[in-house]
Amino acid sequence: GSEVDVEGDVEIDEENAEDDLLGGLLVDDTSDIQVPDRLVDQVIGQEEARDIVLRAAKQHRHVMMIGSPGTGKSMLAKAMSHLLPKESLQDVLVYHNPDDSNEPKVRTVPAGKGDQIVEAHKEEARKRNQMRSFLMWIILAVIIGYSFLVVHQILIGILAAGIIYFAFRYSNRGSDAMVPKLLINNAERQMAPFEDATGAHAGALLGDVRHDPFQSGGMETPSHERVEAGAIHKANKGVLFVDEINTLDIRSQQKLMTAIQEGEFSITGQSERSSGAMVQTEPVPCDFIMVAAGNMDAMENMHPALRSRIKGYGYEVYMEDTIDDTPEMRRRYARFVAQEVEKDGRLPHFEPDAVREIILEAKRRAGRKEQLTLKLRDLGGLVRVAGDLAKSKGHEQTTREDVLEAKKRSRSIEQQVADDYIERRKDYELKVSEGSAVGRVNGLAVMGGDSGIMLPVMAEVAPSQGPGEVIATGQLKEMAMEAVENVSAIIKKFSDEDLSEKDVHIQFVQVGEGGVDGDSASITVATAVISALENIPVDQSLAMTGSLSVRGDVLPVGGVTHKIEAAAKAGCDTVIIPEANEQDVMIEEEYKEQIDIVPVSHISEVLDVALVGEPEKDSLVDRLKSITGKALDKQGQQ
Ligand code: ADP
Repeated sequence: GSEVDVEGDVEIDEENAEDDLLGGLLVDDTSDIQVPDRLVDQVIGQEEARDIVLRAAKQHRHVMMIGSPGTGKSMLAKAMSHLLPKESLQDVLVYHNPDDSNEPKVRTVPAGKGDQIVEAHKEEARKRNQMRSFLMWIILAVIIGYSFLVVHQILIGILAAGIIYFAFRYSNRGSDAMVPKLLINNAERQMAPFEDATGAHAGALLGDVRHDPFQSGGMETPSHERVEAGAIHKANKGVLFVDEINTLDIRSQQKLMTAIQEGEFSITGQSERSSGAMVQTEPVPCDFIMVAAGNMDAMENMHPALRSRIKGYGYEVYMEDTIDDTPEMRRRYARFVAQEVEKDGRLPHFEPDAVREIILEAKRRAGRKEQLTLKLRDLGGLVRVAGDLAKSKGHEQTTREDVLEAKKRSRSIEQQVADDYIERRKDYELKVSEGSAVGRVNGLAVMGGDSGIMLPVMAEVAPSQGPGEVIATGQLKEMAMEAVENVSAIIKKFSDEDLSEKDVHIQFVQVGEGGVDGDSASITVATAVISALENIPVDQSLAMTGSLSVRGDVLPVGGVTHKIEAAAKAGCDTVIIPEANEQDVMIEEEYKEQIDIVPVSHISEVLDVALVGEPEKDSLVDRLKSITGKALDKQGQQ
């Protein structure tokens, strides 16, 4: 076997590496795979972002990361903090200012010194207090002794003693106030700080001064003790990470920009009516590297000046969603499983077949041929659920069965809604997956990006009083109108019926409130309309997805894998998909046996498969076939 950079000394079966989901990795389980020490080396894919993080750490530059959630943005930001020198770390102290108690002084010392200084101050205060108490008791004794023995006025003596006692107590508080507050303590820190300020409110981000309910009269807390550091200050000499940067309110973005420019930022009370708002410290250092993140949308909505600041003094990088599926990459994904198991610390390691199943899922979720998904947070979730299941069953290793069960359990909310919906529809017998019916076709749609759902479409054609109309109900109205328009051009060519003299009613069964992507249902609508028009029934054990051109070509659509699985789950035997999508199909083994996949490129093929009842069907399909795409096109232009 040969050795590969990151996996350590693991044997690789080079001969079968191409065909093996594990890329030829020969291990007993994932505990054989070595996890790199540096966090930055644990990042899978994202080569460009990694390079930039390495460079930016060296040059002390800001970074903007644009991309989907769970692709490693915060992981990279954290990794960056590990690359920064810890030697330059500082402690920050806030002192009472005798000239103006509302403007506490700020002092910076090397990390570890802060604690010592505070201790020294406390010790001094303690000594001073002891000395003062000693003095006080002597004076009290003298006064009481004098009033009792000499002037025989014990009551006046006690009164005088009381006044002196409280005067001392009060001034003791004053000397306590001289002890500085250790605002930032880096004594124990092994690495440069990493502060995640995603979704932080102004106080948490920029620092705050607490409100003091007793603002005078000797009960108040000295203002410097009420000062709290913000994430920008805690991130001093380290990394400040802010995801979804656009959700930060504009004022905070503005202040963040100032902080970046100045490298220091005074702390003041953030709520205007609190007594904290009267206090403003001297500037507190906040010399951090900013890693801002978000999706494309976020970039458009963020403060333009802040963005250009980061851009002008740093890098922008786009995070990948998928990566080429190569044997080497599969081996990295195996390492990813090992990483997630070790990070969690309580999960049993994965047997090779369990890892293969995870990698298959990575392929499936990529949604594209020969790619693996880089949405690794979700994939990590699957690893954890599978590991938890294995543990609860007392398995030594996490097995393939555990992963399969985990996949069922870790369905997304949308998927759960879709499954639930199918269940409910079963109850109402809305779902038909056997027999045949005129004008009714099982369409397929995607909900929430990663779950398919079967949606029947019903069409009825009736003679019209006036000019023909298309009447559609449901969420997919516009798509339906367009599909009918396309199909009517085709129908004109082969049918005696003229659609323009008829009303076409199209009905979609509504799916809860969930958003359904429907531009892929146009062959469904076309088939339903033709079936209704020609009165030829449609096979109900079949579902279909595909987009239709004016020429009758079936065009590719998104989410075929999820749609096929939805059809299989709903009990269909056959599913029609666009030929151009054939390469995107990555369904799980269990479904492959349940359902036949028929790739098509023209509406005539759709009807050939979907319609039942010769000879009407055959003659219709023949007529359709006789009009080739070209012929249609020419006639269409006349
Ligand atoms: P983001 O900040 O992009 O939303 P995170 O960095 O928080 O994503 O990712 C969450 C978790 O998912 C990480 O802690 C890590 O376990 C895993 N992960 C995400 N992307 C990657 C990656 N590219 N390589 C390795 N692990 C990753």
